[in-house]
Amino acid sequence: MEKTPLGKTDLRVTRLGFGGIPIQTVAGHDEAVAVVRHAVARGINFFDTARGYTVSEEIIGEALEAHRDQCIIATKTPSRDVDGVARDFETSLSKLRTTYVDLYQFHNVMDDDSLAKVMAPGGPLEYLQMEQRRGRIRHIGLTSHRLETVVKAASTGRFATVQFPFNYIEDAAAKELYPLAHRLGLGVIAMKPLAGGVMRNTAAAIRWVLSQAIDVAIPGMASIDEVEANLKAAAAGVPGPDELAALERDRQEIGPTFCRRCGYCIPCPEGIQTNFIASSELFFKRSGWGRLTKSHVETFHKGLDCQACRTCEERCPYGLPLSEMVPAISRRMLDRINGLGLKP
Ligand code: SF4
Ligand code: SF4
Repeated sequence: MEKTPLGKTDLRVTRLGFGGIPIQTVAGHDEAVAVVRHAVARGINFFDTARGYTVSEEIIGEALEAHRDQCIIATKTPSRDVDGVARDFETSLSKLRTTYVDLYQFHNVMDDDSLAKVMAPGGPLEYLQMEQRRGRIRHIGLTSHRLETVVKAASTGRFATVQFPFNYIEDAAAKELYPLAHRLGLGVIAMKPLAGGVMRNTAAAIRWVLSQAIDVAIPGMASIDEVEANLKAAAAGVPGPDELAALERDRQEIGPTFCRRCGYCIPCPEGIQTNFIASSELFFKRSGWGRLTKSHVETFHKGLDCQACRTCEERCPYGLPLSEMVPAISRRMLDRINGLGLKP
């Protein structure tokens, strides 16, 4: 499969990578390991996971143990202090059954405060750089859902890669982030090439993303069939006019209420987690109801308290009608939880 340098790093990645979120939803540990092994056997060499993806690191670690030298493993920490990062890093090494991580990323750096914590003197970034000198980390990157933050982080020149949502309906990175990343030699990882599973024409969506200025796209894969379908799509080249038209129909249909998970809308004066609620239907569709916690249920109950003040709406850069969406989604989610008899 076609490989490309990941920015200025010494890593050469297959342009189709393996996103490690959905693998945690596969029923059966051995079945999940088999999906990852199939991806390696079929030539995929870039595997992205995170400390926060429950059993994803364990599954990927077991699957890749016998192929470690052929594979590039990327994982992430959500922590923003040295102790937490150190703990996460050691746990990841253990779960991934490896002595080094190829790309270690700060997960979902959401705003200036979070970036400042990561980059503080004597802080997490310096800690990871020490591990890099020890040979336990090859490169350090970061991921974000907020364009202005990831652009600011990229501009510092202290990260080797950036990972940001990028797909046919979320293409803002192409204008602001990618030219900067290419000028500075940062590796570009496209997360959510299928917009978190909402693109219906998945083959066209993958082909479109791979035709853009990215190094590697990481669709999540939860079955051998999905691995094969993604490989087939990746091999087929740029989408034709009919597929572009289908993608455009998706954009028209999904666009008006699609939450990009950027978090601009919070805080709500009523303490409602608007950003989580707005993206929750998709989150549970992708991750499965096994991720449901009591805290989520409380969040949906709280969503019913929306006063329609529209503070969140005014902050949402995508103009989502949150004063209507938040209570409506909360009600739908509670009805589904009750209807399914779920007890987190
Ligand atoms: S519209 Fe509702 S969810 Fe949004 S800020 Fe106001 S009270 Fe909170
Ligand atoms: S509702 Fe809007 S501001 Fe809030 S997370 Fe979603 S896209 Fe971002």
